[in-house]
Amino acid sequence: LFITLEGGDGSGKTTVMRELEQALEEHGVAFISTREPGGIEIAEKIREVILNPQHTAMDARTEALLYAASRRQHLAEKVEPSLERGITVLCDRFLDSSLAYQGYARGLGIDEVLEINLFATKGRFPDLTFYLDIEPEEGLARIAAGAGREVNRLDMESLQFHQKVREGYRIIGGMYPERIKTIDASRSKEEVAAEIRGYLSAAIKE
Ligand code: C5P
Ligand code: MG
Repeated sequence: LFITLEGGDGSGKTTVMRELEQALEEHGVAFISTREPGGIEIAEKIREVILNPQHTAMDARTEALLYAASRRQHLAEKVEPSLERGITVLCDRFLDSSLAYQGYARGLGIDEVLEINLFATKGRFPDLTFYLDIEPEEGLARIAAGAGREVNRLDMESLQFHQKVREGYRIIGGMYPERIKTIDASRSKEEVAAEIRGYLSAAIKE
């Protein structure tokens, strides 16, 4: 199984990742846990270039291509070899992030960004995606309240930008209704965890 986790900044992805890892362990499923952009050395280096707060001159297309490049390397080096060995891959963000952030919020076009990503992924899609849906106001407030998060170039974006990201994710959810499970992330940790565990158990049994 290839499982991805999506959501706006402050939607609680990190917490849900830990929950999914615990659930997979309880089910006795062999898995690896990874993230995008990053997960391997080359892709982590691309991540540093993309997210460096000093890189304010970065063009949106450059950004989209760098995400796609890091995705390609991560897939080729880590994700595909694991899936081939029958190991479940749990990934914090994947192509839907590019469609929502670069395609929709930055205005490059969902279809255009999908196209460069189909080149990068050779058509590999996740089997199951959890989209953690939350009001950007609430997500950003959670980030402001929490400590220890790395500063990145996205911190300079407006609330309006994050609202567009959310709109983008909702459109993408409509494009892939089978794959993408939209989770109301404004609820308690326990409620979110219970819903996600339900979907996960069903997917494992399939
Ligand atoms: O998921 P994580 O918080 O580590 O993502 C790092 C940053 O990169 C976030 O601020 C996220 O909004 C941003 N990002 C982006 N476009 C993507 C993926 C992530 O702007 N395609
Ligand atoms: Mg996170």
